[in-house]
Amino acid sequence: MILPQETAARPPLDLDLIRKYSIPAPRYTSYPPATRFTTEIDELGLERAALADNARGAGPLSLYFHLPFCHSACWYCGCHTVISRREDIAGRYLDDLEREVALAAARMNLGRPVAQVHLGGGTPTFLTADELIRLGALINQTFLLDPDCEFGVEIDPRHLTLAQVAALAASGANRASLGIQDTDPAVQLAIHRWQPAELNRQAFGWLREAGFRSINVDLIYGLPLQTVESFGRTIDEVLSLQPDRLSLFSYAHVPWLKPRQIIFERRDQLPPAEAKLGMFALAHAKLTAAGYIDIGMDHFARPGDELAVAQRERTLHRSFQGYSTAAGASLYGFGVSSISSTAGSYRQNFKDLAQWRAALAAGRLPTERALVLTADDQRRRSVIMALMCQRQLNYAELSAELGRDVTVEFAAEIAGLADLEADGLLVRSPAGIRVTPRGVPVLRVVAMRFDATFVSAPRRHAQVI
Ligand code: SF4
Repeated sequence: MILPQETAARPPLDLDLIRKYSIPAPRYTSYPPATRFTTEIDELGLERAALADNARGAGPLSLYFHLPFCHSACWYCGCHTVISRREDIAGRYLDDLEREVALAAARMNLGRPVAQVHLGGGTPTFLTADELIRLGALINQTFLLDPDCEFGVEIDPRHLTLAQVAALAASGANRASLGIQDTDPAVQLAIHRWQPAELNRQAFGWLREAGFRSINVDLIYGLPLQTVESFGRTIDEVLSLQPDRLSLFSYAHVPWLKPRQIIFERRDQLPPAEAKLGMFALAHAKLTAAGYIDIGMDHFARPGDELAVAQRERTLHRSFQGYSTAAGASLYGFGVSSISSTAGSYRQNFKDLAQWRAALAAGRLPTERALVLTADDQRRRSVIMALMCQRQLNYAELSAELGRDVTVEFAAEIAGLADLEADGLLVRSPAGIRVTPRGVPVLRVVAMRFDATFVSAPRRHAQVI
């Protein structure tokens, strides 16, 4: 291999380095980041990108459905949600979703196999079992799902019935992601998310029984009233459930975007930065000691899980749902706030439910913001995604892929990595760049050096840790 990976036992986290590089940075679920999408929509450019994407023919599709409803608000939440207790609201939403799928499908090459489906939210299990069956029928009747399709769904264990699990399985769902966040009762009260451990155990049992192949758990560190010790107990409790994957998110405190979060400041409940770092370090140590592989950027997976396999085989991909295995797929998003991504464009739907509905009622795709990528954007996207997913740049491979000598194209950026190399975050050689294990926790900082759009704006992005 041109750029050998370090195979020795992973060294402990270098907390001084993480402190030094814990600066606001994009998460690079896309490049350019979603903050660069614009309401000045280049309709012609989007049309050309859509035609080019259809012409690619054989490449797979990835579908995302955003189901925004939640029964109550978790005060830390940064998602696009609609809090409601009305029982008819999801049925009406499905009416509109059917309109959107019909409009988009008329413009898509439906002969392409679907390699991945993801139901996200909000709370997909806000929908009743019958509504989930209706959504499953819409997906299966419109698109050509590959027999090996990874069909994932985000699940709130507080609102899950056995009938919903059966409906999801009957629709083809085979992966689940459970929001747990923290198991400590005091923290749960502080974040307005009461979730007894029994509900988590019940959800795991039902999903395993129904044949779900991979179950992920979402945890958040840095929440109000958390301590290093309490978060350690959360990790231990969650490990006893034996999840296949874990997502360990850093709480993003952005009250200027999510005013609900201001309550944590008023109550003086947020843990200090050092404690937050301690939580990450402890969680990292516990998960790797338990045999989980650090996939990078908050994700951990068992060695046999397809995410860990994809990392080993260098087929890992990064999209708006984080890391995934659907490399090379075009993503089509449906529902309020969802994002579509093809080789040449990004398109985001209206975040406001009424505006999304109004566009559909008028027979228009409900696009609020978009971006047509320039050739430079596309090349930088390839470089940044290689760093984020493979933790390396192989100059020969990348130059062949891009049809340009990347050492010439990015000469200034490569030369500008000396400080990161001196700190041991990466190694440069004539063959390429390799991010070291010390650099993995701050991968975004390495990627940022190739980001032509980055403007240092502390209020635009969350801290690395
Ligand atoms: S964390 Fe999940 S359940 Fe809570 S408000 Fe956000 S989307 Fe809804």
